[in-house]
Amino acid sequence: LVLVRRTTVPLERLIDGTRRLARRDWSARVDVAARDEFGELASSFNDMASRIERQVQALHVQSDIDHEILSGLDPSRVLGQVMARLQALAPTARVGLLLAAEGDGAWQRAAAPGMPAGAVALDPDLLRRVERGATTLRGAEALLACGLLGPPGQPSEPGSAEFDPVMVFPARAQGRTRALLLLAGPGLVDADVLQELEDLSDRLAVMLVATERERELRRRAVHDSLTGLVNRSGLIEALDRRLALPGEAGFVLAFIDLDGFKTVNDTRGHPVGDALLCKVAALLRALAPADALIARPGGDEFVLLLPGDRAAADGLASKLGRRLLEPLLVDGQTLRIGASIGLVRCPDDGHERINLMRRADLAMYAAKASGRGRHAWFEPALDERVAERAWLQAELPGALRRGELCLHYQPRVVAGSGRLASVEALLRWTHPLRGMIPPARFVPLAEETGHIVALGSWVMDTACHQLRRWRAAGVPVPRMAVNVSALQLAVPGFADEVLSVLRRHGLQPRELEIELTESLFAGDADEVTSRLAPLRDAGVQVALDDFGTGFSSLSSLYRLPVDVLKIDRSFVTDLGQRASADGVARSIVALARALGKHVVAEGVETEAQHQHLLALGCDELQGYLFSRPLSADALEAKLGCRTLEPPLPA
Ligand code: C2E
Ligand code: CA
Ligand code: CA
Repeated sequence: LVLVRRTTVPLERLIDGTRRLARRDWSARVDVAARDEFGELASSFNDMASRIERQVQALHVQSDIDHEILSGLDPSRVLGQVMARLQALAPTARVGLLLAAEGDGAWQRAAAPGMPAGAVALDPDLLRRVERGATTLRGAEALLACGLLGPPGQPSEPGSAEFDPVMVFPARAQGRTRALLLLAGPGLVDADVLQELEDLSDRLAVMLVATERERELRRRAVHDSLTGLVNRSGLIEALDRRLALPGEAGFVLAFIDLDGFKTVNDTRGHPVGDALLCKVAALLRALAPADALIARPGGDEFVLLLPGDRAAADGLASKLGRRLLEPLLVDGQTLRIGASIGLVRCPDDGHERINLMRRADLAMYAAKASGRGRHAWFEPALDERVAERAWLQAELPGALRRGELCLHYQPRVVAGSGRLASVEALLRWTHPLRGMIPPARFVPLAEETGHIVALGSWVMDTACHQLRRWRAAGVPVPRMAVNVSALQLAVPGFADEVLSVLRRHGLQPRELEIELTESLFAGDADEVTSRLAPLRDAGVQVALDDFGTGFSSLSSLYRLPVDVLKIDRSFVTDLGQRASADGVARSIVALARALGKHVVAEGVETEAQHQHLLALGCDELQGYLFSRPLSADALEAKLGCRTLEPPLPA
């Protein structure tokens, strides 16, 4: 019986241990003390089981790291696991994990049981030694490395630290040491443990690279690569976070839209446009308070999220508006733009993100409509105007196709004689349901959407066709003036197209005048000049429309490639009312004459204005006093009398 039991008991235990192992109970060990073959078998089994256990635990930690790499959840959780694993591998050693901060050479100690994370000063020489392959540090170096682990949890043997070696496992990836695993103390490690520590540090390096990349991707996802400001997604995130804050005290949202940016971009090219945007971003950074969020959601739009009340935001908006009207030095060139700013306050003007952003946008358009460099707060009445805009945007593309557009012609007369000098073609849109829609409402929109290019080609062709018909019918219209927007001029081949339209209708180039606005020359005047050159060389006249409202200083006038100046209606209206208007009109006429340019005054409505302009010496006059814009038929009828005399004063 004794003999049988000596055989069966250890055999049963061995069988039991094997079964547990097969059931993945890695802690299975066999207790057989016999000094015979069973004893040897048991000790081999235990040896094997503990190696398997260690292997499995190592795999667990590694798969956790892999999981972290793939899911990008929380690297600090994995760091805790790595620390625990280190401690398990070397139970008697003090363990530590040092992490390199991104970029700046600073190092952080990962949190250990009973010790918080903290910055450490890693000796560059020590790091260099480790990077050159020193895996075991002794003596002074060991002491140095030991110091990085922070105060020991329990006091080590007096003097022992001095002689205990410190093992270092650098976690390197993409040519950089990202972390150091440290084991300080007498804990001897065997080859298996060594292998695992190396694997562990490799995996850790991969994870750290992955987290860094993840963070960079995130940063890029919420930042604008051009200006470095927060982009649209970042703005939305920040706003939502802000709106979800309990007890949010309120904030102001400012939408800033650059005036004239499109012109700079179209005429000077995108690199200059980009540089301009960066310049504006820098300006906003300098002027906005430190706790403001500055975003560029897209294009030439900037958004500020400002904590605080209306008064502070109002002050900042006027300051910004003023500053952006001043000349900006960009790429060695002086650019003049401006900005319109729309403001809303949460919660007074809404407490939903979409509503707030829409209303800030509306306020911005209201500011734009009121003039350059203005700012405006949201008002409920603005809501109605949006519907209008949306409607126009939807209807405009089809207007041309459906034949709803036509041209009216407004005469321009020779000052003094009243003889017809030319007519200006003005676009008219008659919508079947809404009736007549004035160009001031849809032309700016068409310029925004780019539709103006197609509309403009149609206008040019139609106006030339009309002039040709008048020629054939003997109607005495000497010249046709056509409005051309900056966008049309920027289309390559514009000049060729105009010249070929003239040829097609059998007209002389000098029978055409194109009217451009001053803002066109705010950008790259040389570029505009070269685009106009073929037209001017052929004899097409170029007029500067709305002169006096834009950027060109009187002194820069001599450089502009224009033949005609049209004094803006606002000066004519103020003639005789405000001394300053008289002065401006007088100097414009004097200067234009000196430069050999033709001067036209537009918007002449009263006899008093008429007399005033005659006295100033204008060449041509245009306005309701002489004629409103008329359909082709109405103009023909009116021209039966050949001269357009102003009605006698009552
Ligand atoms: P604009 O080029 O300055 O045209 C002159 C505007 O002043 C016209 O308005 C004209 O009807 C108006 N006007 C003329 N005389 C008087 C007057 O004595 N008193 C007053 N109060 N107004 C007068 P309209 O036709 O409404 O056009 C507005 C603007 O729309 C034009 O200003 C021009 O910038 C734009 N536009 C019109 N047609 C075209 C076009 O074919 N192409 C482009 N790009 N723009 C156009
Ligand atoms: Ca005009
Ligand atoms: Ca004008």
